[in-house]
Amino acid sequence: MDYETTFIAQVITVIGFAVGLSIVVASGRYPRHIRNSLRSYSYGKFLLGSAFLIAGLRDGQAPALLIPLANGMGLAGLTMNYTSVRHLQSRPARPYLPVVVGLVVASLCLLLLLAGGGIASVRILTSAATSAVLLAIAYEVLVRYEGRGVPHYVTGVICVAITMVYLLRMTAGMMQEEAPVGTMIDDRVERITFLLTMLATVIGAINYVLMASDEFNRELSKLAHTDGLTGALNRRRLFEMGEVEFRRARRYGRDLTVLVLDIDRFKSINDHAGHPFGDRVIQAVVDCCTGQIRHEDALGRIGGEEFAILLPETGAEAGRMLAERLRCAIERQLAQLGAEAGVTVTCSIGGVSLTREHSEFSDLMAQSDTALYDAKHAGRNQVRFFPEAAHPVPMPV
Ligand code: GH3
Ligand code: MG
Ligand code: MG
Repeated sequence: MDYETTFIAQVITVIGFAVGLSIVVASGRYPRHIRNSLRSYSYGKFLLGSAFLIAGLRDGQAPALLIPLANGMGLAGLTMNYTSVRHLQSRPARPYLPVVVGLVVASLCLLLLLAGGGIASVRILTSAATSAVLLAIAYEVLVRYEGRGVPHYVTGVICVAITMVYLLRMTAGMMQEEAPVGTMIDDRVERITFLLTMLATVIGAINYVLMASDEFNRELSKLAHTDGLTGALNRRRLFEMGEVEFRRARRYGRDLTVLVLDIDRFKSINDHAGHPFGDRVIQAVVDCCTGQIRHEDALGRIGGEEFAILLPETGAEAGRMLAERLRCAIERQLAQLGAEAGVTVTCSIGGVSLTREHSEFSDLMAQSDTALYDAKHAGRNQVRFFPEAAHPVPMPV
């Protein structure tokens, strides 16, 4: 294959526009933040396509205008691919960053040309800028991206590989004699750079769509697993995780404690302060609990104002201490919110720790419920652990 760089630039144009158009069309099926990310990715491809269109058709015309314009647009397009990767993870990305990068590169190109520089200087400058943006994308997908998968690694590896190629191109620019800004450079390095840029545009776009699908699936499974009001796990997911933790703890002889927490006299909070205020209380209780437990613990909303907490690797003593800490934290941290409506927010907690007698996860749930019932019966705002509460007496209404 020994195509001229002008021809390859024209092919990149076609590919850039085709990829951009297909992704814009496909983006309509995705939820908002993924759709926005896909669209900004495709706008980046339109810019890249336009940059190579100018480069491929320039034919030595108006170099002081067209060289800065093509390189500025190309770099702005590549930077849009960087910002779209950040959008995909809901990370903040400065919307004007691509414009700034494009303008800086275009201005530097213009200054170089006005200062009497030739095509070699432009080659060095744009190769350095391209390498920097490619490395920023590689850093985002290989290091910062949470829940990375195959398409993320492929994208990262492609970015690093293409960076190498652009660094080679930069070296070629340093070694070549300063050349007039007539037609495009057509040496071996330039051809390889353009060919690989073309390949990377196609593979990169396929992997980007796969990354977006990954994100979409993650969002769907999050929706299926969490409670809409609080963001805690829903009842089904909490029980699924409970079964898994139970089997693991039984099999390897590990500790496991389960807590069930219920807000005291919540009905009267609702009656007194209204349902929306009750919802705020439920959310605040979840926030408070989330702040107290470890990342490995699981908090789920298993009823209206009732929650279960799984504490893997936690024995009875540590479990009791945590339960007491939770009870105190809720009483203290919700005092201000309660005062807004003239109510007191407290909770009762029942708990149980795994022993040899337990044969199913549902045993733990039933026993912590029994302990909770005892805490309520003992006057509420208390912690009780099974089996000390094995025989509750009926609670007066
Ligand atoms: P106890 O101290 O015995 O737990 O008394 P309680 O009033 O908290 O118990 P009960 O189970 O009788 O009341 C729970 C109330 O929670 C009844 C229901 O209207 C309310 N509730 C259930 N889900 C929600 C919700 O999503 N938001 C709000 N605001 N209230 C809810
Ligand atoms: Mg209650
Ligand atoms: Mg209840």
